[in-house]
Amino acid sequence: MLNIDEIQNGIVIDHIQAGTSMHLYDLMGLDSLDCGVAIIRNVRSNKMGKKDIIKIEGDITGLKLDVLGYLDPNITIAEIRDGKIVRKEKPSLPKRLVNVVRCNNPRCITSIEEECDHIFELSENGRYRCIYCEQELQVKPR
Ligand SMILES: [Zn+2]
Repeated sequence: MLNIDEIQNGIVIDHIQAGTSMHLYDLMGLDSLDCGVAIIRNVRSNKMGKKDIIKIEGDITGLKLDVLGYLDPNITIAEIRDGKIVRKEKPSLPKRLVNVVRCNNPRCITSIEEECDHIFELSENGRYRCIYCEQELQVKPR
């Protein structure tokens, strides 16, 4: 585990809904990257009551940050360079969701073929559609 204040180069993902950080860890693909990670759970927050924070030190190439915009719009991402915050932003909605949500159309190929990736794309009306059967994503999973 990293000391919270020791990050020199990396990112800090803040304002995560408490209890969801491990789920985000998996979805961002952090387990396959070689960077240092600190997950701080159930931090007191004035705004949220409780929150989680993930700090990542090192090379974040390949990290799937865009999925955060879909999962939790309250999240903030701060980029740290030489120990200073150089950029702070909210994640934007990803163009594509790959294996984040499943298509619930029983006739969709993803329901039949187990190896098939579940892929949704953002359409012009701001909703996600399954790229195989065009089924619209109805509710956000939480
Ligand atoms: Zn489908």
